[in-house]
Amino acid sequence: MNPSLEGITIWDGVSVAGPRRLEWSGDRIESVQPADDRFPGLSVIPGLVDTHVHLDTSVLDGAGPGDAWPLVTPDEEKAMHVAAHALRFAASGVTTLRDLAATSVQIAVGRAFDQGVLDGPRLLASGPVGMTAGHGDLFTPPRFRDRPPVADSPDECRRLVRQWAREGASGIKIYTSGGIFSMGDRVGWRNQTRAEIAATVDEAHALQLRVAAHAHTAEGIDIALAEGVDSIEHATGVTEEQFAALVAADMPVGPTLLINDQVAAGGNGIRAESSEKARDVVAGRDPAFRAAARAGVRFVLGTDANGRFVRHGGQLDELRAMQQLFDWTAERALVSATSDAAASLGLGSSLGRVAEGYHADFVVVRGRPWESLDELTTDRIVAVVSRGRVLAGQLPG
Ligand SMILES: [Zn+2]
Repeated sequence: MNPSLEGITIWDGVSVAGPRRLEWSGDRIESVQPADDRFPGLSVIPGLVDTHVHLDTSVLDGAGPGDAWPLVTPDEEKAMHVAAHALRFAASGVTTLRDLAATSVQIAVGRAFDQGVLDGPRLLASGPVGMTAGHGDLFTPPRFRDRPPVADSPDECRRLVRQWAREGASGIKIYTSGGIFSMGDRVGWRNQTRAEIAATVDEAHALQLRVAAHAHTAEGIDIALAEGVDSIEHATGVTEEQFAALVAADMPVGPTLLINDQVAAGGNGIRAESSEKARDVVAGRDPAFRAAARAGVRFVLGTDANGRFVRHGGQLDELRAMQQLFDWTAERALVSATSDAAASLGLGSSLGRVAEGYHADFVVVRGRPWESLDELTTDRIVAVVSRGRVLAGQLPG
């Protein structure tokens, strides 16, 4: 007999259905049928999708962003931390995580989860393609010799995309501006030439990899739009003149609100350089984002969470921040973290909804979070199911 929940209210990723009998088999939802409410006070929502995370940081307290952990820790050991982060995020209801600066480590852990070697959430891994002195490159201190790969011509970009495809990445990450945590660059630096970006996007799309573009500046957003990327990350410098093009392209934008606020606020071992940069990029962000949301720009849940900035469960706080800033209903915010986030990854017909034929990823919660996001907190989560298996908590009944 298939596992089931007999009579529980379902919010399906778009709208609320009354009490339903939810039946699944392995990783597939078999049926969702009307039923008497046997669990009043509880409800089921789809597992959340965070389109922008970074999992290769230490899960142990005490390691700060400026420290040597990423440089001195062997990949074998990093893999344990990546898996531990993924499971801790999953315990807060996030059953799909896209790591936007993946190495072979995230790809390997994602594969182990996919194959059932370990029970875990869906971990999508996007390999970075960036230039020497670009945002990605300068996460490693400038004089350090052992550096991740960079690409400094259209041909090198194509080769690096192909290497990621060979490795098993599910997407590519590019940069069209400088960034905040990188050491010694400026946010306003253009990253790569148009020809390099065009080659990367063309090669990625030829190999069926989606391209996510890190862009803080208006120039970087223009380049990303013109070159046909599949999502824009941060977008803090968005201008009113860009709203129409973003809407016309139906471009998903990951707003990464809380991390930029946290870094701007400083403390927690953050370098002064990073705080200063973050204060600059958030200075004009909120009114621009509010206007963008009003104009119909497609914001989806993308937090940049790494377990240290935006900690485990921080996605739920990010959603509340998005609701408030964008002047959304709770339901609209949840759409941005479920069905629309999945659609933004090209997975809208299999993920992000509680419906027949979809993957069996869902969360049992106390309350009605689509009516009030205050009800969506980690301690109110009763069970997290991913691929049909309970990853955290316990199914009711
Ligand atoms: Zn990021």
